[in-house]
Amino acid sequence: MDYQPLLEEVLKDVSAYRGQGSVAGYIPTLARADPNKLGIALALEDGSAFAAGDGEETFSIQSISYVFSLALALHHQKSALWNHVGREPAGSPVNSIFQLEMEKGKPRNPLTSAGAIVVCDQLIGADTADEAVEEMLGFLRERSSDESVAIDEGLAMSESQAGAFNRSLAYFISAFGNMQNPVAEVLSLYYRQCSIAMSCRQLARAALYLAFDGTDPVSGDAVTVASRARRINALMLTCGHYDNSGDFAFRVGLPGKSAVSGGILAIIPGTGAVCVWSPGLNAAGTSLVGVMALERLVERTGWSLFGHGRSLG
Ligand code: GLU
Repeated sequence: MDYQPLLEEVLKDVSAYRGQGSVAGYIPTLARADPNKLGIALALEDGSAFAAGDGEETFSIQSISYVFSLALALHHQKSALWNHVGREPAGSPVNSIFQLEMEKGKPRNPLTSAGAIVVCDQLIGADTADEAVEEMLGFLRERSSDESVAIDEGLAMSESQAGAFNRSLAYFISAFGNMQNPVAEVLSLYYRQCSIAMSCRQLARAALYLAFDGTDPVSGDAVTVASRARRINALMLTCGHYDNSGDFAFRVGLPGKSAVSGGILAIIPGTGAVCVWSPGLNAAGTSLVGVMALERLVERTGWSLFGHGRSLG
């Protein structure tokens, strides 16, 4: 298959919807995002990579970072991580404090805000947030084969200034005894990981190992064991899109993670990884045109995990 024209056709298919959805408004940097941006990139087993539209432009990875911090925390804590965070879909908004209270400070899964905060705490472990940030950046630079991956420090500052909700979640978790480090230390990792700037091309490349049982097919690096890669994919499929994960599975049928900046990273097991970016969000907080683009891609390629039917009915 010729992938470059495929990606361009996918963007053309959805271009009439460009600009739709609402851009996240809780901090100025995100509120200023151009809703007409639309990019896509695909990374494959043989090292080939394709990008179209704004697929080379960087944006803050926001909660796509949760996938990578989860992989690193599991590497350090192994299955003990599951004493601190669950693995069931939330079925409630990403930052639900109500659910956290009902479940006594143990977040439903690692891909909610509360869950990601707990993962950050576990990733820091006995180290400092600065060391964990360096580990995360080093990991993403190595996995994307790009040393230029960096944090947008100004954005991290705004995230922190607007972060009353996340602070509330973190103190709540701490009050239930599920946090070993000081809240400020944990959130300083959380805001910086959300503020890492990457392009669709870099993200697709960085996630490639998840499509190949934990081994980067290009470098040959054994990044993680096969069972862990499989489980991270399972969590992305069931929990990766706020309370919109069922709809994403229905329409796209791939493990994925959506972020408030409009990025969506998806894994195509055994084939590759794809990332789309379009800042306008649907009511649940997932990129509206981004999901449409992935839906078209899967329709054209038959890549859904749930069957290869190629027409939408
Ligand atoms: N920085 C965001 C937060 O407020 C990340 C949210 C997201 O992408 O869902 O937690």
